Amino acid sequence: MSGLVVLDRDGTLIEERPYLADPAGVILLPNAAEGLRALSERGFRLAVATNQSGVGRGYFGLEAVERVNRRLCELLARENVTLDEFYICPHHPDEGCGCRKPGTGLLERASLAADASPAESFVVGDKECDIEMGRRAGATTFLVRSGWGRHTEQQGQVRPSYVAADLLEAARVILAQQEVGQPRVPAP
Ligand SMILES: [Mg+2]
Ligand SMILES: [Zn+2]
Repeated sequence: MSGLVVLDRDGTLIEERPYLADPAGVILLPNAAEGLRALSERGFRLAVATNQSGVGRGYFGLEAVERVNRRLCELLARENVTLDEFYICPHHPDEGCGCRKPGTGLLERASLAADASPAESFVVGDKECDIEMGRRAGATTFLVRSGWGRHTEQQGQVRPSYVAADLLEAARVILAQQEVGQPRVPAP
């Protein structure tokens, strides 16, 4: 069993753009690919958990979200990085679904697929809802200062386990924890 890292998409992996539906608007954040690669090389499973209420609001369809996700995967493939899964909440905030962050539905699905417990997983994001999702599930949480991260930090409403400049810094902390917490098993 390997560890699980659940990543927010907008503002964490790619530049934050409200209601992004155009694949041409997908721009990887600096250090994001490097951080993902470091985690993946050490056996972490990488899942994206993203709120896409633009679907529920009728701004665009789920296929637009999927096109954006495919573009993200294309850009990452050039950097030799593969994301394992995408978990999407397409609902309107008023629908009261269990998957819209800070609800824990997406994290629970990712954990189930990874055979990992939510409490042992790591959550990385730039907004209060990301941190709150992880906190509710007992995960280790990272607020990154990209996207809305600085704003979120300044608001002071959240208590992430760690604040990191970007995904690469978060990855380094996760890998250091793994080193301390688990015996290293040599690769086969
Ligand atoms: Mg975000
Ligand atoms: Zn939902």
